[in-house]
Amino acid sequence: MSAMTGEPHTLGVAALARALRAKQVSSVELARHFLARARAHQQLGAYLALDDEATLAQARAQDAAIAAGQAAPLAGVPIAHKDVFVTRDFPTTAASKMLAGYRSPFDATIVERLAQAGCVTLGKLNCDEFAMGGSSENSGVAPVGFDAPQPVRNPWDTARVPGGSSGGSAAAVAARLAPAATGSDTGGSIRQPAGFCGITGIKPTYGRASRYGMIAYASSLDQAGSMGRSAEDCALILSAMCGPDVAHDATSVDRPAEDYTQALGQPIDGLRIGVPEEFFGDGLAPDVRAAIDAALAEYEKLGARRVAISLPRTHLAVPVYYILSPAEASSNLSRFDGVRYGHRAARYTDLLDMYQKSRAEGFGEEVQRRIMIGTYVLSEGYYDAYYLQAQKVRRLIAQDFQQAFTQCDVIAGPVAPTVAPAIGAQTDPVTNYLADVYTLPASLAGLPGLSHPVGSGAQDLPVGLQLIANHFQEGRLLAAVHCFQQATDFHLRTPAGY
Ligand code: GLN
Repeated sequence: MSAMTGEPHTLGVAALARALRAKQVSSVELARHFLARARAHQQLGAYLALDDEATLAQARAQDAAIAAGQAAPLAGVPIAHKDVFVTRDFPTTAASKMLAGYRSPFDATIVERLAQAGCVTLGKLNCDEFAMGGSSENSGVAPVGFDAPQPVRNPWDTARVPGGSSGGSAAAVAARLAPAATGSDTGGSIRQPAGFCGITGIKPTYGRASRYGMIAYASSLDQAGSMGRSAEDCALILSAMCGPDVAHDATSVDRPAEDYTQALGQPIDGLRIGVPEEFFGDGLAPDVRAAIDAALAEYEKLGARRVAISLPRTHLAVPVYYILSPAEASSNLSRFDGVRYGHRAARYTDLLDMYQKSRAEGFGEEVQRRIMIGTYVLSEGYYDAYYLQAQKVRRLIAQDFQQAFTQCDVIAGPVAPTVAPAIGAQTDPVTNYLADVYTLPASLAGLPGLSHPVGSGAQDLPVGLQLIANHFQEGRLLAAVHCFQQATDFHLRTPAGY
């Protein structure tokens, strides 16, 4: 085999796919390299499950396909999956003690599609339990190398959180323990950790990626997406993941899959970037604001135009989301009753006691809090006052976006109000919920959103810029970011030591 330029972990998905097809490296070699890195940096707590034999078997199959001249587009490229996607070859826990040791009899649709595209699974990634949280501190399962649950650590500063809930995905990509990863985004869980860890992450339009085999948090919001170093890498993975799956997911959109890489290279001349005034209020830290302003200036240099817009109901996104998502969660999580899946209490007196003890032992504190909020807002007498009102305001938030998109093509703003906080610093749940203010509106409206690194804030920590587009405009988002990344090098910066 002729030599490949650079160590494998310094390369992204696109470069690795090329090297594999040119037979400069084998999938088995890549798998071994990344598995060794995952173990060497296991103190980050990014991986919940590794299984060398399972990974190497997949890699060998891809090497055989390449040798036979039957390489799929991403043949042999290793990636890792957030542990909310069920996998046959690896355990799936959603980072919950409730599902410790669970193994699915089937692969989630997105896992299966990525495998069909040639991807090899490196392992399963840590996250907040059932994807509830924004810091990846709420994990209930011990990561590889530990015997107790650990918060995921941010490779830029291991005393800080990587964000969440897809914090394991973001940390693994940032530390080059995987070239790319899947994530899920219900209210920001791809975009916010991508921002905190200095990588690129995209959540497509609601319904674009199948939810079949994705452990449910809030079904009307949950959406899978891709996390990688660049827009190009995200486009490659996203193209393979998305597409209709109407037989398995009633909210899957029946619209042919797209190749998002086709959009890359489109110039952004004249692109109208809407800047909502509500995203730049008092809550935004000055260091984040400065990096966002500089990024918008760079986009203008590349030919885009800034347009002042308003999303007047932005302040309602937090209360609406934190009524609707717990309501859906309380219903979705009722299936974990100790009978059919996962944890069952060892001692109980009768059936009700078994349910109660199994759920009290299996679910962590944040999950229990949300089940209680959700049960409350759905209960008789409160349903009309909370749940129904929240549904109506959700519609109004979506209308604000449609109004804005008459004036602009994409919307830009921060992804989080600050850079990554210290582990242990976020103790008040309501304060944590408020920090989701910039990511929740697009989720409630079902819109595609992306975060990409645009510089550093305090302590040299990464800052992400969020871009939101109208439904099914993922290609437009990725094209804009690709253009930005051709002209800048923020996405190539690597934390020291990785
Ligand atoms: N931080 C938000 C929450 O805690 C978003 C989580 C997500 O997108 N899965 O619900």
